[in-house]
Amino acid sequence: MSDTASPNTTETHTFQTEAKQLLKLMIHSLYSNREIFLRELISNASDAIDKLRFKSIEAPDLLGEDAEFHIDITFDKEAKTLVLADNGIGMSREEVITNLGTIAKSGTAEFLTNLTGDQAKDAQLIGQFGVGFYSAFMVADVVEVRTLAAGGDQGVLWRSSGEDAYELEEVELTQRGTSVTLYLQEDALDFADDFRLRNVVRKYSDHIDVPVRMLKQAEANPQDNADDEAVIDQVEAAEFEPVNSAQALWTRSRSEVSDDEYKEFYKHVSHDFEDPLSWSHNRVEGKLEYSSLLYLPKRAPFDMYNREVPRGLKLYVQRVFILDDAEQFLPLYLRFVKGVLDSNDLPLNVSREILQDDERVTSIRNALTKRVLNLLDTMAKKSPEDYQTFWNEFGEVLKEGAGEDFANREALAKLMRFASSKSDGSAKTVSLDAYLERKVAEQEAIYYICSETYETAKRSPHLEMFKAKDVEVLLMFDRIDEWLMSMLTEYTGVQFIDVMRGDVTLPGEAKDEQDDADKKEEEDSAANEHPLVARIADVLGDKVDSVRPSKRLTDSPACLVLADYAMGVQMRRIMEASGQAMPDSKPIFEFNITHPLLERLDQEPDEDRFAELVGVLFDQASLAEGGALTDPGAYVERLNRLLLELLDAQ
Ligand code: ADP
Repeated sequence: MSDTASPNTTETHTFQTEAKQLLKLMIHSLYSNREIFLRELISNASDAIDKLRFKSIEAPDLLGEDAEFHIDITFDKEAKTLVLADNGIGMSREEVITNLGTIAKSGTAEFLTNLTGDQAKDAQLIGQFGVGFYSAFMVADVVEVRTLAAGGDQGVLWRSSGEDAYELEEVELTQRGTSVTLYLQEDALDFADDFRLRNVVRKYSDHIDVPVRMLKQAEANPQDNADDEAVIDQVEAAEFEPVNSAQALWTRSRSEVSDDEYKEFYKHVSHDFEDPLSWSHNRVEGKLEYSSLLYLPKRAPFDMYNREVPRGLKLYVQRVFILDDAEQFLPLYLRFVKGVLDSNDLPLNVSREILQDDERVTSIRNALTKRVLNLLDTMAKKSPEDYQTFWNEFGEVLKEGAGEDFANREALAKLMRFASSKSDGSAKTVSLDAYLERKVAEQEAIYYICSETYETAKRSPHLEMFKAKDVEVLLMFDRIDEWLMSMLTEYTGVQFIDVMRGDVTLPGEAKDEQDDADKKEEEDSAANEHPLVARIADVLGDKVDSVRPSKRLTDSPACLVLADYAMGVQMRRIMEASGQAMPDSKPIFEFNITHPLLERLDQEPDEDRFAELVGVLFDQASLAEGGALTDPGAYVERLNRLLLELLDAQ
């Protein structure tokens, strides 16, 4: 490529702040493995070729005489340069500015403010940004990009030293595509070496289905020749040869592909810098024919809950790249899955609109969903540690599936992991199967509690009787859990029971009730006739639905119980936060007859003092649920008054 730059047309642009920060961070954090810059540049070149290949199906003229795609790498030891040139789609001036001057991902600024400052950790996160191109600055002092868009007529030169700014110039270019020139740093001169480059290309980019070419060895070092004229002639006549095997990886059979190749391919399709956690590669023949290669990442992207973020697979039709982010082939709750789908049945001119309601798409989607769930199930059995990593990162998203994918609800429930009253700490490690295996005699339900944090769940007064009877309770405290449990009513025929709701029955009790219903009724009415019921109800008035003695409590004096169909605390918070006015739902106030405080209260003749104490018990019960007091000031005043009385009495 040639260019004639006119200094008059040079413009200087500053990088977007985020781009600048990321660039700096990346250069520092990935430095120890800087040969990957080559993988990133080849990956970009290959994407650019894929895009043009697709566009040219409808507009073959775009290719002109230059119809054989390739990526060429050349270097010059003397000049200390390395050039990577592709004949892909190229970029217009505007595209250069948006693609190489800004980081388009929304949320980048927040992400950056959340960085830990721990370079090792931050380095693992930064791969999410598609900062691939900037990795060139790990080895180069200056990078120049010359590019001419397919069908365009104005070439552009972008030049930067990777600090604050970049320069743009209009240049004459005759060949479509992009060439990236790296002016190598003194300590990166080892990359101006034929042997080294070939190694790196084979190591990282063997699977790229476009030939990555280098000059044949004998001609690769023209600078050895003293005669300059001869050198130029020689380069022009030089022959390129492919260095990689240039076969699309997913078209090969599983047994031929090594784990390392799978991992490198993942990095190419996902733009992730880390290895994947696992993958599944399959070819399906029969009514529908397709190959799929699906990957599970190790780490959740920071913007997993932003629904606008592109997701989905790279779609190919008969090996031709069609679309990035084809989201129709997987349900939303599997949006973290990356990979490739290559269909033999879809038409080459397929568009997102056609994919929307195509029967073939639906059946591929169902099959791929099963594939991913099977992959997870196998991982859970065979590599529980990996599975735990997966669950910690993606569990909350997978839970969305309970509402989205009725057909797979049971399979999804099987994959879920929870914290439990019987395990140490807040780690979510208990499966429903494990729970059922250790249920106590006569236990006919899976008990759970939903709360806002692990601590409030773990210390909830509602668990006391369960602990006393050695019954395990699952502790749920993800934002999505209350919603999840409204979708999930049973697992393998066993009901879920929320221990915070209604008149909870403990194992063994339901049976008693049937055997001896009369006795039970008698007991119940006797309990309800407890003199405190009416007295407390009088004080609490319309703050509560009703007042009753508790079967749940052993240590705490009182607790609040939700009516069977009332909205839980978590859900209520979420709805309120989204600005929705919620109808008042009143709790049931349960008190512990055997607690010394209640025994004393029963003896309290002074009605004012009685009311004061009941008020404190009520507020404490809502605090224990992690609830917010409607009038915290009044609670504090009341408590202080009581403390003062206590001190005065001494
Ligand atoms: P990513 O590839 O993850 O999107 P990069 O920073 O590597 O991020 O590249 C940014 C964008 O620049 C690419 O998405 C692409 O649009 C454009 N680009 C980079 N290299 C090339 C190339 N060789 N040809 C055409 N466009 C390119």
